[in-house]
Amino acid sequence: MHDISPRQGSFNFESDLPITSWLPDETLFSVAGRHHILSGNYHASQTFLQLFGHPRFRSHHDLPSRIDVFVENTRGVFGDARQVILGHTLLPFYLPLKSSEHLDVALSAMRGNRVGALKYQLGMLTNHFEAHHPLRACVTCMDEDVSGFHVAYWHRTHQYPLVWVCPRHGTVLLESTARQPGTHHYDWHLPQRSLLEPPVTSSSVLMTSGRGLLARLTFAAIGLAELATTVCLDRQRMTQIYRKRLFDLGLKDTLGKLDIGSCVASILDMAAPLREIHELFPLPSSPDTARAYVSRLCWLPAGNLHPTLHLFAIVWLFDTWQKFLAAYWLETSRCNQSDLASSSVSRDRQLQNIRKAYHEEFD
Ligand SMILES: [Zn+2]
Repeated sequence: MHDISPRQGSFNFESDLPITSWLPDETLFSVAGRHHILSGNYHASQTFLQLFGHPRFRSHHDLPSRIDVFVENTRGVFGDARQVILGHTLLPFYLPLKSSEHLDVALSAMRGNRVGALKYQLGMLTNHFEAHHPLRACVTCMDEDVSGFHVAYWHRTHQYPLVWVCPRHGTVLLESTARQPGTHHYDWHLPQRSLLEPPVTSSSVLMTSGRGLLARLTFAAIGLAELATTVCLDRQRMTQIYRKRLFDLGLKDTLGKLDIGSCVASILDMAAPLREIHELFPLPSSPDTARAYVSRLCWLPAGNLHPTLHLFAIVWLFDTWQKFLAAYWLETSRCNQSDLASSSVSRDRQLQNIRKAYHEEFD
């Protein structure tokens, strides 16, 4: 109720809205950054006030809030609230591993101004992971964007967790260093080469021979986000698929039981270079944590796992997202046929009971 209407400022949206359309795959943070620069705003608060109706609003470059105010203040030229949220924020990445109810909760929170609890509700803070999404850019995309659109901007696909390689150019994405000190927040800005650095040192295994692993994680993350609003992955089914895949890969001992020692060694081998990236530091780092991870994947409800741990498992076990998804649909089809069979059995039983009751009553 203490909001200050943008019309109380000196900004006239009828004539002064400096941009009125998205660039391809652009985030809301990027549009606000372009608005900030083209409006000649000096203070971040001016842009907050003009676009989000509050001068002290803090920018959430990943899951922004006050979207209803943004839509109203921009007269709907960027679409309605649902289109803005699902098309230009990081929310889609977190939806397929949650139930369908989470979509309504998230849309409601982001349209209003209370996104704090969302990070817990979407599982972003589980398993020691931080809800940190560093701003990332591809220098080749930046060059192409400058020549095509006269501006380098933030692509949504580059911002999804685990996307560390540009899916178009295969180059390792660079990370913005323009973060506010001690926080995970950024003031409005667009990609600049002088404010970008690689996620790890240039001598890291990831920067030399590990790009294949980063690329597989990248496409798995993009594949996951693409399922948003159409598919909610079933937790129990994922647990079954992980367990079956481990056996299919031959990770079992002479008695046919899961060979935990081999699993642990394989996990630690894959996780070690990835843990150099700050966001991936919570990946398993010791035999004990790797053993607990296998347990959670195979025997406990895997739905409580952070999405990063699911994607790590998918790449570890299936190599590519496509192979995982094919296994998932195969298992889904098998379960549906099994459900159909059991429901026809129960229908038969019902009919038998009705006939029995009929005969007892009338014979
Ligand atoms: Zn690129």
